[in-house]
Amino acid sequence: MIGTGASPRITYSSKADVSYHALRESILAGELAPGVRLDQAKLAAELEVSATPLREALRRLEAEGLVNARTHRDVSVAQIVPDEVQSLLAIRGRLDGLAIRLAVAQSDSEASIRIDAAANDVAFWRERAVDAERAFHRAIYTASRNQVLIDLLDLIWDLTGRFHRVIGSRATDIFIAKHREIAKAIRDGDSDAAEAIMAAHIEAEIALILDKPYPKSMRTVTTLDIVGA
Ligand SMILES: [Zn+2]
Repeated sequence: MIGTGASPRITYSSKADVSYHALRESILAGELAPGVRLDQAKLAAELEVSATPLREALRRLEAEGLVNARTHRDVSVAQIVPDEVQSLLAIRGRLDGLAIRLAVAQSDSEASIRIDAAANDVAFWRERAVDAERAFHRAIYTASRNQVLIDLLDLIWDLTGRFHRVIGSRATDIFIAKHREIAKAIRDGDSDAAEAIMAAHIEAEIALILDKPYPKSMRTVTTLDIVGA
């Protein structure tokens, strides 16, 4: 069986792995806020690892753009940059459109039912808006049956997850309504309509993310902002 041997090499990589996944989740969940400088000694203690696997984990996170390392010791959580939100969501908009076209071309009625169900899973929305939002879009990606596209979109969602947390449940009703319209257009085989509604839906997401004050760290807060508020 692979992975049961207790060689130091495997132990090392699994510790780096565990650290990587734990840190990644905290960053994507917004628990480690954008711009925060990471206290590596404290993190190592919390994760019960030594400095080396932690550094390995940070290198992987840096390669993904989730942390910035100025030096070995000076590592911070990457800021949410408006340009990055625009760029990532613009790409997602195009790829979501492509997924819709491929999904409609499959004309798979069971997939349509699953997309409908995800659009109407309001209870899930109330509890976990970000996960419900993603689940709906993923139902469309799955229906496209294009694994490369699904993987690309998964990556984009991973990178934009913390942006969506900015919106939280504020847009729930609007998003549910849009999802239902998209689901209906897909069911009707009208990929033009579905794609147009999707494009507008993602534009609205970008606007919401960039308007919301959440990551104050994303803006330069001046004394005037504070005094003038
Ligand atoms: Zn959506």
